[in-house]
Amino acid sequence: MNKDIATPIRTQEILKKYGFSFKKSLGQNFLIDPNILRNIVGHADLTKDSAAIEVGPGIGALTEHLAREAGKVVSFEIDQRLLPVLEDTLSPYDNIDIIHSDILKANVKEVIDVNLAGYEDIMVVANLPYYVTTPILMKLLMEDLPLRGLVVMMQKEVADRISAKPGTKAYGSLSIAVQYYMSAEIAMIVPKTVFMPQPNVDSAVLRLIRHDEPPVIVEDEDFFFTVTKSAFAQRRKTILNNLQSQLPNGKAKKEEILAALDASGIEPNRRGETLSIQEFGKLADCLLPHFKKS
Ligand code: SAM
Repeated sequence: MNKDIATPIRTQEILKKYGFSFKKSLGQNFLIDPNILRNIVGHADLTKDSAAIEVGPGIGALTEHLAREAGKVVSFEIDQRLLPVLEDTLSPYDNIDIIHSDILKANVKEVIDVNLAGYEDIMVVANLPYYVTTPILMKLLMEDLPLRGLVVMMQKEVADRISAKPGTKAYGSLSIAVQYYMSAEIAMIVPKTVFMPQPNVDSAVLRLIRHDEPPVIVEDEDFFFTVTKSAFAQRRKTILNNLQSQLPNGKAKKEEILAALDASGIEPNRRGETLSIQEFGKLADCLLPHFKKS
């Protein structure tokens, strides 16, 4: 087996050889612990029949572990300075495609069709750039990509919010937005010391697996998300107050909102954080006729 990229010594050597300086603005915190990398990849349950999509290969620390376990790896990197580095560090592997692109602008569906043709089991596995964790996740979830799931490192605080259950402080519209598509659990907590440079915040690996059946079926997904966001606009306010102040013309539609709450069996003085995803689904469907744009 090839020597791991992600040891502190080898990483230093590579950075020195290319005169590479980290860009904080691109969330560049590279992993320098092969054990952590093996654990992360282990949580993705890859086989040679699987493909992995990575966001931000850096100098290839995680990419090579993915290439060892999966049949094919596609990795999106925004920083042009890393392309010659990756060409060098990943030269022992013939199953990796590096795509020079901002993941937020990339046509991931097309890349899957072209670069991962024939692969039915596709996982996203990444140590995400923390400054864009949520937009990246929401893009990958909402684009209706054929993914089995995602195993992704992020700030622990965001991982807590995404995996939170109703009735907890961390539970909010982000928990619902993600859990609508996938089951979410924290697979491991990762100390700062395994990164170079060390980030300011604690990290966690989140494991998201697509539901076989959606937890709730709603008439209008966009409106469902509008309702969940509205419900958490001001956490101290009741669901009734938040819906009234957030939904279009909500103040004038108090009676309609009360009727929808009643029809979904939700007390108007409850707070958004106590509602399950199923309750939100029912509420959104009951509110929809009163707020549907004509
Ligand atoms: N995977 C490497 C590792 O674990 O050592 C590097 C992870 S580092 C936290 C994040 C990587 O994402 C960096 O290589 C950075 O240049 C890249 N990146 C930042 N923003 C990006 C974007 N919008 N699209 C694609 N890559 C991005």
